[in-house]
Amino acid sequence: MSRANSLPGLDKATVIPREEHGISRKDISEAALRVVYGLQNAGFAAFLVGGCVRDLLLGLHPKDFDVATDAHPEDVRRVFRRSRIIGRRFRIVHVRFGREIIEVTTFRGHHEQENRLREAPTREQSRQLDSAHSHTGMTLIDNVYGNIDEDAARRDFTVNALYYTTDGFKLLDFHNGLADLRERRLRVIGDAAGRYREDPVRMLRAVRFAAKLGFTLDSASEQPLRELGELVESASSARLFDELLKLLCGGHAEETFRLLRAHGLDRVLFCHPYADPAPAAEEAMTEAPEQKQAPAEKLVPLALRNSDRRIAEGLRVTPGFLLAALLWPPLRQRLQALDGPPNLMQLRERGEQTVLEQSQLTTIPRRISLVAQEIWELQLRLERRDRRSLRYCFDHHRFRAGYDFLLLREESGEDTGGMGQWWTTFQQVAEAEQTRMLEQMSARPKRRRRRGGRGGR
Ligand code: ATP
Ligand code: MG
Repeated sequence: MSRANSLPGLDKATVIPREEHGISRKDISEAALRVVYGLQNAGFAAFLVGGCVRDLLLGLHPKDFDVATDAHPEDVRRVFRRSRIIGRRFRIVHVRFGREIIEVTTFRGHHEQENRLREAPTREQSRQLDSAHSHTGMTLIDNVYGNIDEDAARRDFTVNALYYTTDGFKLLDFHNGLADLRERRLRVIGDAAGRYREDPVRMLRAVRFAAKLGFTLDSASEQPLRELGELVESASSARLFDELLKLLCGGHAEETFRLLRAHGLDRVLFCHPYADPAPAAEEAMTEAPEQKQAPAEKLVPLALRNSDRRIAEGLRVTPGFLLAALLWPPLRQRLQALDGPPNLMQLRERGEQTVLEQSQLTTIPRRISLVAQEIWELQLRLERRDRRSLRYCFDHHRFRAGYDFLLLREESGEDTGGMGQWWTTFQQVAEAEQTRMLEQMSARPKRRRRRGGRGGR
């Protein structure tokens, strides 16, 4: 008899047999199966859990595979040579197979001790305590181990708390997750407000999964978002940056952004209060012109839609490009406060200020902000009607991104002097024609010192 059958807490699960759930072993990553079998052979219980089970049930390709086990991190470490323990406040093990990493978590249990900390735990505290909370109820250390049913109760959403066992290929459901999944409903396990307080990032996860899966948040899970949204700020800016990337690069960024705004969560994630979308055409007729949405604001959802489309086509998206788009509205505001069109130095400086302001909320690694800066700087040059500048742009390693950004600006209603079209043609024609097009441009940079600038820059 296998170890899993005698596992404490297992009796609390509803067991769904193989014939009733449709998960096929062949869709499971070889590496994940090797981890599960490896742990079982060493005498432990091991299950696939979380997003991979959820996505397999929905017929989607899981992004990664997570394994839950009763083995402690040190045990897991001993079973797999290529593994390492990561995290201090929430210790997990990464097992590596080639390029794939399987995340192995030990069943979490209830916290019996009340350790309240005023600040983030020190290294020493993380070593000594296995659980701790902040004054707002946020979990700071979560290394109390427990049984599988307790582990299920500590997961965020019911659809994320389904366990798949290779022992009979059954599904274990502790919180009616399968019913929610079939009704396309996202529901927090337990008291939603309390669970958001424990970990405010769960509010962002709620929006991310709702957008990705096309699920509806149930009202008890949705209702606290507006009131508790501000707690998100108490999460570390590094973790928020990771989450921001997941929100934007998961292929559903446009819908995610819409939902973040609908629940007031954009305020805690972005340094800029984005304007509401423009009213429908017939309302717009009666709207005062200044109430119309500015082009820079329109650019954001357009950029997100574009990037979602790229991901659907299997193309790569550059986080720096998305950052350039998201921060374009606040950057434009800064540039508009200048006395005329900006020069390169001014653009660079205002760009840095904008990035700095955003990085107070979410860390922004330099490698990403540099890309955004390059894209912004190219905007200035792509519009300049002089040969040297145009040549420089075309040879620039970010030309493609800069050009795409220029097109987005045009699409959102900015006046770029028709240079988007010029560049489109330029790339389509033969080299001789390119030379001719360049010759039609002035040989020397024109100084543009008009007040107010073209297109309100
Ligand atoms: P995806 O990998 O597609 O983004 P996922 O659901 O697998 O989605 P992960 O971040 O990989 O998300 O986490 C794996 C599982 O761990 C989740 O499904 C959930 O059960 C649990 N989990 C992750 N983060 C939290 C959290 N903040 N609170 C509670 N449970 C969590
Ligand atoms: Mg996952």
